[in-house]
Amino acid sequence: MTKRIGFLGLGHMGAPMAANLVRAGYDVVAFDPVPAARERAAADGATAAETAAAAATGRDVVITMLPNGALVLDVYAELLPAAEPGTLFVDCSTIDVADAKEAAARAVSAGHRALDAPVSGGVAGATAGTLTFMVGGEAADFDTARPVLDVMGGKVVHCGAAGVGQAAKICNNMLLGISMIGLSEALVLGEQLGLSHQSFFDVVSTASGQSWALTSYCPVPGPVPASPANNDYQPGFATALMSKDLTLAANALRANGVDGQLGALAAAVYARFAETDAHRDFSAIVTDIRARSEEENAG
Ligand code: NAD
Repeated sequence: MTKRIGFLGLGHMGAPMAANLVRAGYDVVAFDPVPAARERAAADGATAAETAAAAATGRDVVITMLPNGALVLDVYAELLPAAEPGTLFVDCSTIDVADAKEAAARAVSAGHRALDAPVSGGVAGATAGTLTFMVGGEAADFDTARPVLDVMGGKVVHCGAAGVGQAAKICNNMLLGISMIGLSEALVLGEQLGLSHQSFFDVVSTASGQSWALTSYCPVPGPVPASPANNDYQPGFATALMSKDLTLAANALRANGVDGQLGALAAAVYARFAETDAHRDFSAIVTDIRARSEEENAG
């Protein structure tokens, strides 16, 4: 049974994920270049490693939770030679599909096994152990990883071959970004036309314009009390992260010759919004659309 885990990247997501593995009885060796992150992991019951390579030595599964694909490839260059042959590498970072495929190919050619397993659910899901994992790679490797992922997640889906977990993640978030912008434009247009937010919600939430963005995450205060709009747009899902994911989606649209005009536009809209509001929830885009409309009307 898989018991020995290496965990690299102990940030907002990785720290609580690693802590949940320790709590479930796994032997976790953890590394992050930030000393405070290593200290926190040790306090949570993991063994802090002094180098990335040390966190991959003698492990059955090595999990990475890192900011971007370039870093994943850099770290893999240190980890792959240090790991025992046949180690299962599971990258949970959100990265380019092309980087995910490259990372898996390098792991396999070094004699290991590899999965991409990006997540949704944010820090709250990482802490509660209720993340959704979208997994790409061989079925046998998925079966090996499954009990480990089940500890950190509430839903674990094998989406297909290497890179297809990342594909599921960026397709979903591209659709969410487009849908939040569309909803926000409709809400601001409604405001200009004298339609109250509650009336908008009462009609659209059961009409053909219905969406998760409206019924679970309404970007204006009132109709959905738990949405970040009611909490001054504290994330939630920060604009910086939505912008990152839309950039990955736009890259994939281009790389795969898909005529995704709205996906590319949504990436540009959120990149501009992230310049000033990176730390606010992504649903605050409605405030930007409103402010720009008011400027235009005034000018
Ligand atoms: P974060 O910046 O808080 O954590 C990343 C960690 O990686 C940092 O602690 C950093 O020091 C560490 N790191 C950097 N270089 C390293 C190295 N060489 N070896 C080991 N560790 C190294 O980011 P996060 O919010 O935890 O996100 C991690 C990943 O999860 C990202 O790809 C992000 O897109 C994705 N994600 C985040 C969320 C979220 O809500 N935060 C949700 C879903 C997916």
